[in-house]
Amino acid sequence: MRILVVEDEESLAESLRRGLSADGHRVEVAHDGHRGLELALTGGPYDVVLLDLMLPGLGGAEICARLRAHGDPTPVLVLTAREGERDEAEGLDAGADDYLTKPFSFVVLGARLRALVRRAATASTEPAEPAELRAGDLFLDPQDRRCRRGPHEIELTARELGVLACLMERPGRAVAKQDILDEVWDAPHDIDPNIVEVYVSSLRKKIDAPFGRRSILTVHGTGYRMAPDGG
Ligand code: CA
Repeated sequence: MRILVVEDEESLAESLRRGLSADGHRVEVAHDGHRGLELALTGGPYDVVLLDLMLPGLGGAEICARLRAHGDPTPVLVLTAREGERDEAEGLDAGADDYLTKPFSFVVLGARLRALVRRAATASTEPAEPAELRAGDLFLDPQDRRCRRGPHEIELTARELGVLACLMERPGRAVAKQDILDEVWDAPHDIDPNIVEVYVSSLRKKIDAPFGRRSILTVHGTGYRMAPDGG
C-alpha cells in the first residue's frame, strides 16, 4: 500500500516509516500539519493516511475535515496520544475512519490498516448513484461521457467534461480555479490555475454560444459559477 504518515514526533514517524516499509508498504512522512495536508491532497493517491491529532501548524482533525471537504475519500486512521471519548469523537466527526491510541503495537496497526483498506475497497465497488448532472436543459453524464443541451448532443474532450462536471456538481456556487485544477488535473501543483480559462472558453463555445445561452458565469477574482437553470 501507499501510506502517508503525518506525525510530528520524529522518532515515532521514523519508526512508522521503517516498520511499514519493512512490511512492503511505500511510506511518505510529513512532520507538520500544512505539509501533511498538501501531500494528502496532491502527493497521492494514498491507500491510507495515518494522522496524528496534535500537530504543529494544522491539527489532525482539521486536516481530515479539509480532505473530506475536497471530496477525498482516502481512509484516515487517526493516531492520538490523548485518551478519552471527546478526542475520538473529534477525529471521527471530522471524517476519520478509525483511531488508535499511542502507544500501539505494529501488529495492531497492521491489522487496522488492512481492515480499513478492505472496507474502502468494498465501498468503492458498490454501485454508484445515477450520476447524470443537470442544469436547466443542460445534461451531463460523466460516467457515459455524454453531454447534451436539450436534444442536441455535444462532444466534449475529457478535460472539458471534467471542468464542466466540477461546476455542475455545485450549481450556483462559485468554484475557484485552483479547486477545479485540483479536481480535474492529475498533477495540479505543477500547473498555472489560469489554464482553466482555456477550457472554460472552449466549453462556452460548445454548450452556450450555439444556443445563445450563458451558463458558465465568471466570478471575478475567484473562478466560475454554473447558472442552476443552465443559462
Ligand atoms: Ca503530535
